[in-house]
Amino acid sequence: WEPHLPPAGLLNATELVSHWTAVFEKRGIPEARESSEYIVAHVLGAKTFQSLKPVLWTQPLTPWQLQCIQELSSHRLQRMPVQYILGEWDFQGLSLKMAPPVFIPRPETEELVEWVLEEVAQRPRVIGTQGGPLILEVGCGSGAISLSLLSHLPQSQVIAVDKGEAAICLTRENAQRLRLQDRIRIIPLDVTLEGSWAHLLPWGPVDLVVSNPPYVFSQDIEQLAPEIRSYEDPAALDGGEEGMDIIAHILALAPRLLKDSGSVFLEVDPRHPELVGSWLRSRPDLSLDLVAVRKDFCGRPRFLHIRRSEA
Ligand code: GLN
Repeated sequence: WEPHLPPAGLLNATELVSHWTAVFEKRGIPEARESSEYIVAHVLGAKTFQSLKPVLWTQPLTPWQLQCIQELSSHRLQRMPVQYILGEWDFQGLSLKMAPPVFIPRPETEELVEWVLEEVAQRPRVIGTQGGPLILEVGCGSGAISLSLLSHLPQSQVIAVDKGEAAICLTRENAQRLRLQDRIRIIPLDVTLEGSWAHLLPWGPVDLVVSNPPYVFSQDIEQLAPEIRSYEDPAALDGGEEGMDIIAHILALAPRLLKDSGSVFLEVDPRHPELVGSWLRSRPDLSLDLVAVRKDFCGRPRFLHIRRSEA
């Protein structure tokens, strides 16, 4: 990273942010200013540049701080997502450890969590009759969805499964970090394997199944940003030809695990509400209905609520 060394004299935080913003822009790195602000703030012990004490904006940086900023910025030049560079990221107000290649929680997934919370609040007598709800999360990644549900629902319990070892370890670490480990059972499990549901039977039946599954259409994977393609586990993204492979497995498994009053909440691609609706009609044996679709903050239909058909 020698060529990117800031010229002598540019030694305070504000100048360093400008320096690295310019370098990132020149190299076509997306979100150049945000990236350099996050990195400089992180090295100075803050989450955001704006939250740094103003005195730190103009105070000279130590050679050690300069070197750290240099090193972290060189990762950004390699298109590493800023979440992995910082090693932590906030989701629903929780600070979670992040580590490649575990899927980084996206802001829209907070909307899925909020929808689940609304549903639990509206149907308190149905969902989780004894104590709080029992929730199954399929594909827990860093644990973002499970841990934020646990933190909002003090009576709830979660079973979190993932087929990736790194994800299982990270969810476990994040659960401990947030002191939520007593209400979560973290199980390595691949729901696409025949009979996987049987491993979950002893823990069920559950009130809710929640998932942000891999749902990207295989042919769209190549168009994803380099940050995603080169760093995140493809198994957390690729949902097969129509992005439906894992969704179909989750829905096929749900009736065996759900209480009668139970629900499934999924994050999907905007093309999925229709595809999932017609897939469910082709599987009347599952007795599941798509009962509601919600849009994300960009207005795209991205969240599904599926329930057992009324008898
Ligand atoms: N929305 C994600 C992305 O574009 C994909 C999420 C997923 O497959 N669960 O990176």
